Amino acid sequence: VEIETMSRAGAVVAKTLALLGDLAKPGVTTAHLDEAPETYIRSEGGVPTFKGYRGFPATVCTSINEEIVHGIPSPKRRLAEGDIIGLDLGCIVEGYYADCAITLPVGPVPPRVQELLDVTRESLDKAIVQCRAGNRLGDVSHAVQSHCESHGFGVVRAFVGHGIGRALHEDPQVPNFGEAGRGPALKPGMVLAIEPMITMGSWEVRILEDRWTAVTEDGSLAAHFEDTIAITEEGPEVLTRIEPRS
Ligand code: MG
Repeated sequence: VEIETMSRAGAVVAKTLALLGDLAKPGVTTAHLDEAPETYIRSEGGVPTFKGYRGFPATVCTSINEEIVHGIPSPKRRLAEGDIIGLDLGCIVEGYYADCAITLPVGPVPPRVQELLDVTRESLDKAIVQCRAGNRLGDVSHAVQSHCESHGFGVVRAFVGHGIGRALHEDPQVPNFGEAGRGPALKPGMVLAIEPMITMGSWEVRILEDRWTAVTEDGSLAAHFEDTIAITEEGPEVLTRIEPRS
C-alpha cells in the first residue's frame, strides 16, 4: 500500500519533470521554470516538498553548470545555449514522498559534457540494478562511484542520497561512493532516493552566499540525476519514471 501511494507521488514528479524538460530552452528564466510545477502538482492531489523546506523558496531546484544542487530559481537567471541545467523536484501524496532529478542540456553541448550527463544517468541505472534483497548498501554506492570514476569524473562526497517514505530524508544515507559488499543489508520494503552528483573535475564543493546553492569548488560542470526506488521481492521498482506509452 505504501509503495502504491509512493508510486503515485513518483508519477507526479516524473510528469512534472517531463513538462519542465520541454520548457528548458535558451532565453527562459529559471523563475519561469518554477511557475507551472506547483499548480500541476496540486492539481494532481500532491503537495510540493521543497517549498518552505528549511526556508527554501521554490518548488523546483534549478542548478546551472557548476551548480551541483539546490540552486534557487530567479527571474534574473536566463538559460543560454550550451548550459546544462539540473532540475530537482519532490512531492507528497497522502503523506508519502517521492524525490526525482534530471540534468538536461540546453541546446547542443560539447561531447565531453554530453558524456558527463550520460555517464551520470548510467551510474544511476547501475545503482538501481543493485537494489535487490540480499545485496548491501555498499553495492549501490560502489556502482555509482566505479562507473563515474572509470570515465574520469569526480564523485561529490558532501551530499548523498537517502531513505524516503513518510519523510523526505530517512535512514539510511546513500553515499555515491563506497565499497561493494559493505554496509546495511537491503530488504524488501526499503525505499531509497539514489542521487549521483558527478563533476567534470574534483569532488570538492562550496556553498554560495545564498546559503543554498552548492557549486563545485573548482568551477567544473556538475550533473545530478535522482530516482526513488522501492526494493521489492521481485527486485527494484523505480517509482519516478514514466513508462513509455505504446
Ligand atoms: Mg533527494
